[in-house]
Amino acid sequence: MSKTDWIQQEIDNLQAQGLYNRIRTIGSPQGAWLIVDGKRVLNFCSNNYLGLANHPDIVNAARKSVDTMGMGPAAVRSIAGTMTLHVELEKRLAAFKGVEAAITFQSGFTANLATIPALVGKEDVIFSDKLNHASIIDGARLSGAKIIPYEHNDVNSLEEQIKTNLSQYRRALIVTDGVFSMDGDIAPLPAIYEVAQKYDILLMVDDAHGEGVLGKGGRGIVDHFGLHGKVDVEVGTMSKAFGVVGGVVAGKAIIIEWLRQRGRPFLFSSAVTVPDAAACLAAIDLLEDSTQLVDKLWSNAKYFKEEMVKLGFNTGVSQTPITPIMLGEAKLAQQFSRELFEEGVFAMAIGYPTVAQGKARIRVMISAAHSKDDLDKGLEAFGKVGKKLGVI
Ligand SMILES: *Cc1c(COP(=O)(O)O)cnc(C)c1O
Repeated sequence: MSKTDWIQQEIDNLQAQGLYNRIRTIGSPQGAWLIVDGKRVLNFCSNNYLGLANHPDIVNAARKSVDTMGMGPAAVRSIAGTMTLHVELEKRLAAFKGVEAAITFQSGFTANLATIPALVGKEDVIFSDKLNHASIIDGARLSGAKIIPYEHNDVNSLEEQIKTNLSQYRRALIVTDGVFSMDGDIAPLPAIYEVAQKYDILLMVDDAHGEGVLGKGGRGIVDHFGLHGKVDVEVGTMSKAFGVVGGVVAGKAIIIEWLRQRGRPFLFSSAVTVPDAAACLAAIDLLEDSTQLVDKLWSNAKYFKEEMVKLGFNTGVSQTPITPIMLGEAKLAQQFSRELFEEGVFAMAIGYPTVAQGKARIRVMISAAHSKDDLDKGLEAFGKVGKKLGVI
């Protein structure tokens, strides 16, 4: 017996249940097509919504910044000073999103870990959508506050929970994903805001999949619903549509100021590197210059979804470019994904526990980087595999 035997047993269990995570290796830049495990395939997997991950303007901005400012920030910002690039990025993000202020973090994940414990603690309560992202759940746990889940996107359930529980706590926070990444549906933010107002509760939305996607020119879910100045905290990421890396919290100046004092991943961990920050700035330039990429993303998504429905597939409740192809059993979804790969299409199966039992699916991520020809190739492969496996 060795002291790591239990880990081997756990891994064997995962493999037996078909839940072991085998990670494919990508040998090319991100784009509509990828080299995956040595094979050229159509990419239906990435969060590279606008094709910015390998955009020449962004690559050039990163390269130039290294020549003048070097590579790493070399220390935590609050201890050894912050670089002009990071300050500029926060100003530009605040202006882009039309909020008073913004603060950046290493990732969207750490943005949530920073924000929730800074706003609520042991004597407080968090009302959290049942399908919220793992980083929200972890941030909520870290805060020590009581976590009360409400039914997914169900404002009545939210209000019921508030009525029953609010009076037992000092302060409260309502938190929801903006776009839910597995189904592509959008949180009913105007109705959630009404409830937050009625009970005077802080409102936080994690717009990781809405940043660069929803709203005018990709300004996010708050812009999409015209709720400017009403949502207290907007979390976002620069790792998805922005094509780079980094998290952001945008909102009221007083909250951003507090996160500079109390956001632990800000106080105890270094910032993103110089080229990351420069690349994010270049992404904002592109988004502010033109809505063309965002428009292309949405027209691609509309076309792909319509054609999939015509073929006879069920694309669930998606309202965004995230397109789930509902298949039911995890084994079927996995086989479907393997067959697609044989046909030159890279699209991953998603099953329990990421989604509920019996709700396994293939998730297609549409991008502005796809041409109509790419989408047609994908549709053809889906049609062929769907017929072979008796799905359509
Ligand atoms: C992807 C995602 C994150 C994490 O963002 P990273 O920048 O990759 O850490 C956080 N929240 C939600 C809702 C996400 O979809």
